[in-house]
Amino acid sequence: MKVRIYKNIKHSLLNEMARVKILKDISINNYGRFVLYWMQSSQRVKYNFALYEAIKKANELKKPLVVLFVINENFPYGSRRNFLFMLEGLKEVYEELRKLNIRFVVHIGDPVKHVLEFSKNASILFMDVGYTKFLREWRKNIVEEIKVPVVAVEDNVVVPVEVTSNKEEYGAYTIRKKIQKNLKDYLVPLDFPQISFPPFREILFSFDIRNPKDSINRLHFRYNVSETHYFVGGYSNAKELLKDFVQNKLSKYIEKKNDFSENFTSNLSPYLHFGQISPIEIALTVLDSSVEDIEKEAFLDELIVRRELAFNFVYYNSRYDRLEGLQPWAYETLQNHKFDERPYRYSFSQLENAETHDPLFNAAMMELVKTGKMHGYIRMYWGKKIIEWSESLEIAFKFLEDLNNKYALDGRDPNSYAGIAWCFGKHDRPFKERPIFGKVRYMSENSIYKKFDVQKYIERVKNL
Ligand code: FAD
Repeated sequence: MKVRIYKNIKHSLLNEMARVKILKDISINNYGRFVLYWMQSSQRVKYNFALYEAIKKANELKKPLVVLFVINENFPYGSRRNFLFMLEGLKEVYEELRKLNIRFVVHIGDPVKHVLEFSKNASILFMDVGYTKFLREWRKNIVEEIKVPVVAVEDNVVVPVEVTSNKEEYGAYTIRKKIQKNLKDYLVPLDFPQISFPPFREILFSFDIRNPKDSINRLHFRYNVSETHYFVGGYSNAKELLKDFVQNKLSKYIEKKNDFSENFTSNLSPYLHFGQISPIEIALTVLDSSVEDIEKEAFLDELIVRRELAFNFVYYNSRYDRLEGLQPWAYETLQNHKFDERPYRYSFSQLENAETHDPLFNAAMMELVKTGKMHGYIRMYWGKKIIEWSESLEIAFKFLEDLNNKYALDGRDPNSYAGIAWCFGKHDRPFKERPIFGKVRYMSENSIYKKFDVQKYIERVKNL
C-alpha cells in the first residue's frame, strides 16, 4: 500500500453519498417528535457518520435527536467480559452526547422490538451497518416492519464494501488495487457537524450505564467468561493505545509485528470490533505521523486491505461461517486428507484448558483466556494446530469459532471468520501437498522456535 496515494486527498461530496443508503424510501413522518439514530455497530461519537447524518437531518427538520442503544443479552457468545468492555465504551458515548445536548437512551432486550417501538414517535430512522448474519437479520427485520424512512450509513470500513467490489474477492492481491483507487475519496477527515436542532426535553426511561461495573451485574449472559483487566473499553482508551502505538511502535512495525514474544502491534482490534474508534481516524492519525512511509504502508495494509477483505468475505459469502465458504481448491484438498492419521487428538475442554503436549499452543490459549486477545502471528499457529489435532475438519472449525468468539474481545467479527477460514486456506494460495492439510499452508513448531524467542513468550504469558 503506497502512502503517496493518500497525499493530496481532497474532500469530495461523492464519498459521503456512497456511504449513505436509503433502505426504506417512504415519506417522513411529520408528526414524529424526534429523529432517531439506532446506534449498534458504531459505538462512538467521533467519526460516526451515521450520527453525523442524523444530526444534519435533525437540523433540517428542526426536531430533536434521540440516540438509542439496545443491549441484547442473547448476543452470540455474550459474557461479562465482552459486555463490560462494551459498557465502558457506552459510558463514554453517554458522556460525549450529554455534552452535545443529545439524548442517549439505553434499553435492554430485542433490538428489533425496541427500535420499532421507538420509531412510532420518530420522523426518520438512521442506523449504522452490520455485516455478520445476526446483525444483518436485525436490520432486515426492522426495515420490513417499520413505518418511517430508514437510512443506513456505512462507517466502519474506510471504503464502503460495495464501492470496493461487487463480488467476493479471491485474496488481498485482488482487492488491494480496488481499495487503493478509492482511498482519495474515502480516507478523508470529516468535521463534526454543527448542531442547531432543539434539545429533547421529555423524560424517557434509560438503563443506567454511568457505572459499568454496577450495570454489568444487572445483566445475564449464557457464557461464563470473566472480565479482563488488560483491556478497558472506550474511545479514550483506544486513543491512548493509538498514541502509544504511533509514538513507540509504528517505526518498528515491519521488523517486529510478527514477534509474539514482544508487543509491537496496536492492540486496537477490540476497539475496532465494537466500533469504539473509526478505522478512518486510525488511518489518518498514522498518516499524520512522522514515521517512515514504508512502516505506515505496512500497517495500513493490515488495517485497511486485510480488514476490508474480511468484510468483503462475510458480505458476499453467505457460507463464511462454514467450511463450504472456502475456495474449491482448499475445500477439496482438505477433504482428500480428512482421513489422514492425526498425531494428537484433543477435546474442546483440553484445548480450552491449555492441556496439550505443546507449551507454545498452551501459552497462546492462556494468553487469550487471560487477556481477551491473542497475538496475531501466534493466532495463525494456534488455528492451524486445532485443525491438526481435531477429529474432523468440521469439528476443528467449530472449536475455533467457539474458542475465538468466546474469549476474544475482538471476536464475533468479520475478521474472526476471515481469520478462521484463513487457517483452512481462505485468501491464501496452494502449497506443497502434505498430510492432513493437503495443499493448505502448514505452520511448523520447528520454524517458529527457530525464528522467535518462544521461551520468552511462554514466560510472559505465565506471568500475566
Ligand atoms: P495490528 O497489527 O495492530 O493491526 C491493526 C488492525 O489491522 C487490527 O486491529 C485489525 O483490524 C487489522 N488486521 C491486522 N491483521 C489482520 C489480519 N490478519 N486480518 C484482518 N485484519 C487484520 N481479528 C479480529 O479483529 N478479530 C478476530 O476475532 C480475529 N480472529 C482471528 C482468528 C484467527 C485464527 C486468525 C489467524 C486471525 C484472526 N484475526 C482476528 C486477525 C488478526 O489476528 C487480528 O486482527 C490482529 O491480531 C489484531 O491485533 P492488533 O489490533 O494488535 O493488530
